[in-house]
Amino acid sequence: MKINQIETFRVAIPLKKPFKTALRTVSTAESILVKVTCDNGIRGWGEAPPTTVITGETLSSIEAAIHQVFKPFLINRSLLNYEEIFQDLQMILVGNSSAKAAIDMALYDCLSQYCRLPLYQFLGGYRSEIETDYTVSVNDPKEMGEDAVSFVQQGFNVLKIKVGKDDIKTDIDRIQEVRNRVGHSIKLRLDANQGWKPKEAIRAIRKMEDLGLEIELIEQPVKAWDITGLKQVTEHTDTLIMADESVFTPKQAYEVITTRSADLINIKLMKSGGIYQAQIINQLAENCGMACMAGSMIETTIGITAAAHFAASKKNITRFDFDAPLMLAKEIIEGGIQYRGRKITLSKDPGLGIRGFK
Ligand code: MG
Repeated sequence: MKINQIETFRVAIPLKKPFKTALRTVSTAESILVKVTCDNGIRGWGEAPPTTVITGETLSSIEAAIHQVFKPFLINRSLLNYEEIFQDLQMILVGNSSAKAAIDMALYDCLSQYCRLPLYQFLGGYRSEIETDYTVSVNDPKEMGEDAVSFVQQGFNVLKIKVGKDDIKTDIDRIQEVRNRVGHSIKLRLDANQGWKPKEAIRAIRKMEDLGLEIELIEQPVKAWDITGLKQVTEHTDTLIMADESVFTPKQAYEVITTRSADLINIKLMKSGGIYQAQIINQLAENCGMACMAGSMIETTIGITAAAHFAASKKNITRFDFDAPLMLAKEIIEGGIQYRGRKITLSKDPGLGIRGFK
């Protein structure tokens, strides 16, 4: 099975409501779709959104990485030697993790179709159904409380609350409002997206603990580069702390795991450079007794289908943050994962199960 052709397409899909974090506001999901065609007719799909503030990539840089670097390297190579291909893919270009992820997932789509297995079974097959949380964008407390209630009414029982945009007092008001509105049967996790300084984070988290806000975990309280600060927060609070933007590569995961700078890691294909490296991060964490969450950027159902297949296949991935396609005003594909409220079902079709476009 040799790779014959690699093509890219741009898509832009409006969001139902702007997605707001401490780092950015997004109202349209822009992405690069990748199609890999093999000489036996098998076609694989991948996706890379340009999450510039996190990965440093743009629509044009993703296209350039694919067409100028990966395409000449991959055309005419046998995909059955995939151990070498996935390793070389990480070596021939530094950074550009989302461009790598788009190619990686398209190649996994091809490989699992060749084996006539759904991708999650090709990767381990641990589960065929998972449940996602839903993200409440950072806004004024009242609006966040109203959004939270509406998501609970739609069947979500885990909410991810975006904080870290303003001062700590406003963040605590936000969480208190959400907690008051949804009650204590709903799990709340926070994502500060690097918005706090270490001491601020410690003060804020202790306050939340004292107020009995029952926060399940807090993602990336401090700057991505500040592993020392992350460790400080982890050591001086009781709430679980999760590394997100601090961990792109297996090497960074190793550092966070061995220094116990966080309690959990959020794995995203767009940071790890795809499924091959995501598996290494998960295995490192699992071997050291650390569970992982799998999450995503603002991606369409293509990227999330690949991420969901990876996440479902692994026992050590215990939390799932795959709400992005639900935020989009329209669905672009036929097939892939199916949502029923918070439940995500993986297709039994081979590969990612993408049957076509709407
Ligand atoms: Mg995050």
